[in-house]
Amino acid sequence: MSNTDASQAPVTVIGLGLMGQALAASFVKAGHPTTVWNRTARKADDLVARGATLAGSVREAVESSPLVIVCVSDYDAVDALLDPLEDSLRGRVLVNLTTGTSAQGRQKAEWAAQRELVYVEGVIMAMPPDIATEKAVLLYSGPKEAYEQHEATLKVLGPVGSVYLDTDHGLSALYDMSLLGIMWSILNSFLHGAALLGTANIKATTFAPLANTMINVITGYVSAYAPQMDEGEYPAGDATNLVHQAAIGLLVEESETLGVNAELPKFYQAIIDRAVAAGHGESGYAALIEQFRKPSA
Ligand code: NAP
Repeated sequence: MSNTDASQAPVTVIGLGLMGQALAASFVKAGHPTTVWNRTARKADDLVARGATLAGSVREAVESSPLVIVCVSDYDAVDALLDPLEDSLRGRVLVNLTTGTSAQGRQKAEWAAQRELVYVEGVIMAMPPDIATEKAVLLYSGPKEAYEQHEATLKVLGPVGSVYLDTDHGLSALYDMSLLGIMWSILNSFLHGAALLGTANIKATTFAPLANTMINVITGYVSAYAPQMDEGEYPAGDATNLVHQAAIGLLVEESETLGVNAELPKFYQAIIDRAVAAGHGESGYAALIEQFRKPSA
């Protein structure tokens, strides 16, 4: 299919929250005949003004395109909207961009398989303004041929960052959860650090450039530790866990002394204490993976 043909491929977007609107607007802008539906119909007004077609019902929306994208709050909403429409979904490709767990993704895939529906799971690692830019990363899992059939259309949403992962429907959600965890860890640490510096009247805007430098430094640790974690060998090429443990103790002390929330550093302390107790005092930080692989204490 040529690029010109690909942009003619009709697409349906169900769910016009902040994200759904960004998805639909991108398809409209790229020239795709775009049908939309939302529980609260007025959210389609702007899209319709730009050229989208508002369907009168979810069924009508599904039946308008060979590619149906759903992006609503949660899987309960997906089920409520689409479970009654299996006859309309048959012969189409359903792509679910609603955030969920890997178990929810696999369960929905089982539901689809029992009804011989073609189902692709997807996750969006981007905020609405970044959709259709080089910053947008979207990960897909499920039947590869279904993804490839609509790859040109899906790439409108992530021209550079659209990635097909695997046939396991749960994998995109598992990546999503793992990557979101990194986001919250970094953000929480930044907020905690800003609270510490705030006690000395340092503004968050003053802290931000150095925080970003540190975040960039850590990307090097991630690359260095990953092979150690895969191989189960954790040589302390940079610092031993005993050195980390002492410094983490100081972070707890600093937080408590200054009256700043110390829950985050106390978690770091708890987990490194366990790693050291397990014999990893002289190992490198990657050894903590063994603690993370266990259920919570
Ligand atoms: P949102 O602005 O809160 O919109 C929620 C959407 O779900 C609305 O269209 C809402 O319809 C619909 N909805 C909720 N319950 C429903 C139900 N029972 N029946 C029918 N429709 C229902 O959320 P959003 O930011 O667009 O997020 C949508 C999904 O994208 C979520 O799973 C979110 O985790 C994911 N996501 C969002 C972002 C982001 O930055 N926003 C980034 C990555 C992934 P009404 O308009 O009628 O309420």
